[in-house]
Amino acid sequence: MSGNQSILSRSLQSVWHPCTQMKLHENFPLIPIQKGDGVWLIDKDSKRYLDAVSSWWVNLFGHNNPRIKDAIKLQLDTLEHVMLAGFTHVPVVELSEKLAKLTGLGHAFYASDGASATEIALKMSFHYWRNSGKPNKTQFISLQNSYHGETLGALGVTDVAIFKDTYAALLMQSAQMPSPDFRLSELDESAEDFALRCADDLERYVSQHHEQLAAFIIEPLVQCAAGMGMYHSIYLQRARQICTQYQVHLIADEIAVGFGRTGSMFASYNDCDTACTFKICTKKQDCRPDFMCLSKGITGGYLPLSCVLTKDEIYQAFYDDSAARGFLHSHSYTGNPLACSAALATLAIFESDNVITSNQAKSAYIQTKMQALTHFPIQHLRHQGMISAFDVVTHNPHFSKDCYAAALIHGLLIRPIGNTIYFMPPYTITEPEIDFMIEATVKVLQKVL
Ligand SMILES: *Cc1c(COP(=O)(O)O)cnc(C)c1O
Repeated sequence: MSGNQSILSRSLQSVWHPCTQMKLHENFPLIPIQKGDGVWLIDKDSKRYLDAVSSWWVNLFGHNNPRIKDAIKLQLDTLEHVMLAGFTHVPVVELSEKLAKLTGLGHAFYASDGASATEIALKMSFHYWRNSGKPNKTQFISLQNSYHGETLGALGVTDVAIFKDTYAALLMQSAQMPSPDFRLSELDESAEDFALRCADDLERYVSQHHEQLAAFIIEPLVQCAAGMGMYHSIYLQRARQICTQYQVHLIADEIAVGFGRTGSMFASYNDCDTACTFKICTKKQDCRPDFMCLSKGITGGYLPLSCVLTKDEIYQAFYDDSAARGFLHSHSYTGNPLACSAALATLAIFESDNVITSNQAKSAYIQTKMQALTHFPIQHLRHQGMISAFDVVTHNPHFSKDCYAAALIHGLLIRPIGNTIYFMPPYTITEPEIDFMIEATVKVLQKVL
């Protein structure tokens, strides 16, 4: 304990922790994690915590994963980093080719975190219209309760009051469209009808403002930071049609939902025929977003990397003799070889282990087990692939913190969002580990409610 004490107080002295009112730690101790093993995080006293939030939604295949670790080690022996302006390397080329094949979006621009990917997509969209003789298309729209990151541009299209309100005076203006999150629907309305009604609202707005609109940015299928707000996929299809019809870009922010989280490799293609090659879609329409933002799970949770993918038509609008028509954006670690090698190892696991298919059984098992939670006062029990959530009916204003603290005592890491408890575990979670996760949650609810 005394060993912990010193690292804890040193951390509070010197480290400004993210998303935290630091004074809170007068009552809540930090947890000093020493190592990871699969779904488990292990602290200095060898106490184990099941990481049911994949360490902020980044870890796909467990901590200390031998395949990802070995790929990084191998890369480390040849090239740790080189600037990507004027230079290239095999890992970044291979990763770009693989992502192009998976998404149908053939041009990859890299950065290091999700918020930067949002910034890049917004700037590229604006710049595309400028290069295309439409300099008035300067505005962006997003969904009510959206989350796209916390740098100033990304915060401008984010709609979460606790992150946004303080900085309102600094932010670019954007309009928010009604969210199709089915929790917001009328009682007698199906999720599909509600999604269609929200899409009609979107169309009304876009039809009136398209001459000023550059892009609509959206989190496909699940608004994660809003408390795992899920919606019917018909909304995505309609959004794609509306954006095409009125010449507004569609930016798919797959930073949280990409890489299998919602049950398909990318949530944008949830309804797509698996045989679709993006050239001859059986639905005879181009379902691709104009931009796709990826990060979080892209390296399996090992190294910071993000990416904006876009299509040839957009890329070509920048290709010119004039430097200013080019996209003159950069980050120091753009396309870092170690991060790209971790991403390639992550994609290799998807292929060799048939992850999308095997996750179906895992998701079904989680859903069955979660029936045990229906004895508590909960509502909106919901699932989408490897995301499960429910809202607890309680008037306790400290519910989220109380649950978080009680869960840690039982060896479980959850971070409820308001009254929403969610599970977003690594895909390597086993059935006994799922049992543990649910049983610990039962104990937490018994204590907190
Ligand atoms: C996490 C997240 C971001 C921001 O990514 P960071 O790496 O935290 O900057 C953006 N959009 C969505 C949907 C996210 O979940």
